[in-house]
Amino acid sequence: MAKKYITRNAKQTKIIGEKFAKNILKSGVKKSAVVLFLQGDLGAGKTTFAQGFARGLGIKEKITSPTFVIIKKFRISKKINISHSLRSQEVCYRYFYHFDCYRLNKSKEILDLGFEEIISDSQNIVAVEWPERISKILPRKIIKIKFNHLGKNQRRLTISE
Ligand code: ADP
Ligand code: MG
Repeated sequence: MAKKYITRNAKQTKIIGEKFAKNILKSGVKKSAVVLFLQGDLGAGKTTFAQGFARGLGIKEKITSPTFVIIKKFRISKKINISHSLRSQEVCYRYFYHFDCYRLNKSKEILDLGFEEIISDSQNIVAVEWPERISKILPRKIIKIKFNHLGKNQRRLTISE
């Protein structure tokens, strides 16, 4: 069943992303990569969510929209403090890939960037903005997060797994 959240500022959206990432780390690796599709209009909060999500993965680098480069790759630390305890835990994921498909013209273009290998590696976590652009190359199992603009600072996030 889909989970819905209403956020009233960017920080709240980041916190949802952060918690979501920590839950993924806690749940351990699957058969293939964890793939998130971030859907929604320009300014709906996809990159804002990705910023919180990366923070939840323990990534310290600044996250910006990879609009022009299409893909950015970040190393996930081997040990992260996932829960509230002071001890850090071993993490079995290695890389976080952040895609922005806005500038792709054809689904096929993403294959040249190694998309298939990336999503088949179970140690990867992948977030894709504008997944509609690659609708012809859908991975089998994805987590879909829909962002709706409700007001100036109000957004609705619908997460379906
Ligand atoms: P997208 O990647 O979907 O184009 P961004 O995350 O880059 O969107 O931009 C969202 C913009 O809206 C940012 O400037 C952010 O500060 C602002 N904003 C205001 N309220 C919210 C909210 N509740 N959630 C997310 N972003 C918000
Ligand atoms: Mg964006």
